[in-house]
Amino acid sequence: MTRLHAAVLLLLAAPVPVLAAPPAPSDSEVRVQREARNLLAQLVAVDTVAANESKALAPIAELLRKAGISAQVLESELGRGNLIARVKGNGSKRPLLLLAHIDVIPVTGQPWTVPPFQLTEKDGYLYGRGANDDKGMAAAIVAIAVEARKRPTPLSRDLVVALTAGEETGGFAGVRWLVEHHPDLLEAEVGLNEGSGGGLTLSDDLSRIEAVHIGLGQKTYQSYRVSSHGRGGHSSMPRADLNPIYPLAVALEHIGAFTFPARVLPATRPAIAALGKVEEPPLSDALLRTAETGVVSHEDDAVLSKDAISNAYIRTTCVATMLQGSNQENVLPVSAEAIVQCRLLPGDTIEGVRAALVKAVGDPKVEIAVTKDMGTGKPMSAEGEVPDAIRRVSRRFWGDVPVIEGFGFGADDGRYLTARGALVYGVHPNPTSKDDDRLGHVAHGPDERVSARWYPEGVRWLNALVFELAQ
Ligand SMILES: [Zn+2]
Repeated sequence: MTRLHAAVLLLLAAPVPVLAAPPAPSDSEVRVQREARNLLAQLVAVDTVAANESKALAPIAELLRKAGISAQVLESELGRGNLIARVKGNGSKRPLLLLAHIDVIPVTGQPWTVPPFQLTEKDGYLYGRGANDDKGMAAAIVAIAVEARKRPTPLSRDLVVALTAGEETGGFAGVRWLVEHHPDLLEAEVGLNEGSGGGLTLSDDLSRIEAVHIGLGQKTYQSYRVSSHGRGGHSSMPRADLNPIYPLAVALEHIGAFTFPARVLPATRPAIAALGKVEEPPLSDALLRTAETGVVSHEDDAVLSKDAISNAYIRTTCVATMLQGSNQENVLPVSAEAIVQCRLLPGDTIEGVRAALVKAVGDPKVEIAVTKDMGTGKPMSAEGEVPDAIRRVSRRFWGDVPVIEGFGFGADDGRYLTARGALVYGVHPNPTSKDDDRLGHVAHGPDERVSARWYPEGVRWLNALVFELAQ
């Protein structure tokens, strides 16, 4: 998961809630919390940087089978395992999918102060690569499934546990591969996954849960190769009209000047409103008006488009990120190319964005091609079974804690499932503070960590949410 919405979370200074604490955990809840912590240590101990998922999953499959839960590990390629397990319900409702990826981001070159592939408790935190993203979620859902299996009365729906490979590299070894090769296994009515702007925000003094974010949707990313071709030759005898760099440069200028039309989605409206409450005028006014009306006026667009975060909420964006010409200074290139990275708002298609870029460039000699189809998904509604359950459980746990509908700028595996009609919402059991976001200890950074006190509380919350949805 890429926590690009983190910058937005930083700005969401939530009002102070009436302090409320849930009653002491039951024996069953304590078992879930302990098991999650043990599993987290076990998962962190396997280096799953785009590899070794099968190795990490083998003991978990064994544990699930011992608990009487059917579990299988399917490899998309050697060592790239995906675990699918099912706790059978009585079938009165369609399945609930609990999804987490167990691959992680590399640690090379990062200044870690603890061994990254060993769960270390220090100063009130549990450190380790993946502790937050996304092994904390993986450990929690396995523990929840094991405990669910012990219930005397069956759940109303199957719980499908999916621990997957390769999310950080586009899901091609994991969820994307599963939906292409074993689509029936992930069949579910509703799902809970990381991302999409969802999560639990902890106050900076670590004393309370400050906000619950329901992840409603996400931008997805897609890169395009913009290229132009020439004849090549010696740089001592150039002909400007045959040099592919010049038309490419013009094309990129056009792309730089082009903006996609602004629009407001039901899934982005709450996040735009929340941002408006903490910004200063005139940005705050433009944000609040936009959230209120659901339309971006010409005048407001002029303000919003100058702010990178606001602009990202209201439109698809594309930006040139890489350039390549000749590979030697005295050689005329035979081709010149750039990579243009786009972030698509839900509703925009990969081909539609390509067509818009072609039109903006307006030069038939410049080619624009999709580098690799990264998939798009659909946003969720803020109303319905899952958001309602999140609101109820959060109130039960933390009183009048604000429950905010979030929207993410990263891209996660949920898109492959929402594209097929599943209702996948972003939630997470790791409460993280805005300070941790600022310090970069949340995801992808060095010294990735979760709060030793609050992670179990988040696990308990997620456990309650699962039962609320499956009782
Ligand atoms: Zn992730």
